Amino acid sequence: MQQPILIVGGGMVGLSLALMLARQGIAIRLLEAVKYPETTATEPTTYHSSFDARNTALSRRTVQIFSELGLWEKLSQHATPILQVNISEQGGFGKARLQAHEEKVESFGQVIENAWLGRVLLSEVRANVNIELVDGIQVTSLQQDADKVWVSAQRGSDQQGSEQLEFQSNLLIAADGRDSFCRKALGIGVDEHDYQQVAIVTTVQTSKPHGQVAFERFSKNGPLALLPLPAITGQQDSYRRSVVWTVEKGTEAQWLGESNDQPFLQALQHTYGNRAGEFTKTGKRFAYPLSQVLAHSQVSGRVVLMGNAAHTLHPVAGQGFNLCMRDAHVLTRYLAEQYQAGQDMGDNARLKQYEQARLSDQKRVIRFCDSVVRGFSNQNPLLKLARNTGLMAFEVIPGAKQLVATYAMGLKV
Ligand SMILES: Cc1cc2nc3c(=O)[nH]c(=O)nc-3n(C[C@H](O)[C@H](O)[C@H](O)COP(=O)(O)OP(=O)(O)OC[C@H]3O[C@@H](n4cnc5c(N)ncnc54)[C@H](O)[C@@H]3O)c2cc1C
Repeated sequence: MQQPILIVGGGMVGLSLALMLARQGIAIRLLEAVKYPETTATEPTTYHSSFDARNTALSRRTVQIFSELGLWEKLSQHATPILQVNISEQGGFGKARLQAHEEKVESFGQVIENAWLGRVLLSEVRANVNIELVDGIQVTSLQQDADKVWVSAQRGSDQQGSEQLEFQSNLLIAADGRDSFCRKALGIGVDEHDYQQVAIVTTVQTSKPHGQVAFERFSKNGPLALLPLPAITGQQDSYRRSVVWTVEKGTEAQWLGESNDQPFLQALQHTYGNRAGEFTKTGKRFAYPLSQVLAHSQVSGRVVLMGNAAHTLHPVAGQGFNLCMRDAHVLTRYLAEQYQAGQDMGDNARLKQYEQARLSDQKRVIRFCDSVVRGFSNQNPLLKLARNTGLMAFEVIPGAKQLVATYAMGLKV
């Protein structure tokens, strides 16, 4: 009899992975620090690090994975497809345009509001008989020996009275985010690069409908992504767009707070010109400090690191969650094989094979994101010229678009 797998962390990755494993008949015990709110049919879930004001561009591969899980029908009600991607540089002559129909695909991916993604995942997890959800509980210690791994966790605070609980299993999956407690407890080091940048995230309204077009504009202040969002119920066209603007650390204060709504809208207008029409309204802005964090190892004994705990990327190319979903999908395949054969799912040699199998995709995506950030952050005139000629070449070289589109869609596994 196999013990339930322990998953620490119920963010986007922990919840998605729990559903993938549960679908294979594998029992899961999911431990999450935050006390989840009730999930209602009409309200999105906004509560913590994953399910906040952000929007996520889901690659076609991620959409396929959610479809296999039987979730896409529900998620698609809160998502909108990307049919075209326009890439340009402020003050530069180069431009590139990718169109879904030219690449012979239905769309390049879908944009979903994280809060809605959270609601759908959480209600599915709650309804799943193979998943035991233990929320409002913080893992505070982790130990393992040759046969098992066990954690202590605390519910409540020392001041208000707390309860200590212990859990053990043959396998623990740590999906506890960028500052992963589990990773530290195992003594796994990281390579960390602080980009000295902050992502300003919000939702805006424009006078022109977005027509399912996404923009990536490399501006003097930093890369600015404008993604289409679903229409408000009852409206045919959507005027809502998601903004992710990467700016230098220390400059973000001028864009935050209600009193800066107008300067922020003006800055967007200045950067985009009239491509999106007039920027008429902005939501509250949120700031995310950006760094790249790569764990030195993703497997230790009977523990696997997943999601941001294993690799946290710059969001410039919208790859972080998509990469995690491919990791989770492959891990599920490895564990399902062990489970069906009645073998130990925490077998270190097998987990190491999983890690090896994922390294090349991970390295490629990490290099891609990092080089986009570094390549487009530099205002050196020669580099700028190279970038603009690059964007033009991209328009005319046969196959170049397809290659990048395939990459950006996360279809390579
Ligand atoms: C601005 C921005 C935009 C992005 N846009 C995209 C995009 O368009 N496309 C894309 O693919 N990716 C995108 N990403 C990346 C994506 O958001 C991350 O890959 C994703 O959030 C990782 O989720 P996670 O579940 O690994 O970590 P987290 O969301 O950090 O979740 C970790 C969970 O673990 C819990 N936890 C932590 N410690 C403990 C503990 N000790 N005990 C119990 N529970 C614990 C936390 O409460 C939390 O619920 C973006 C990122 C940013 C910053």
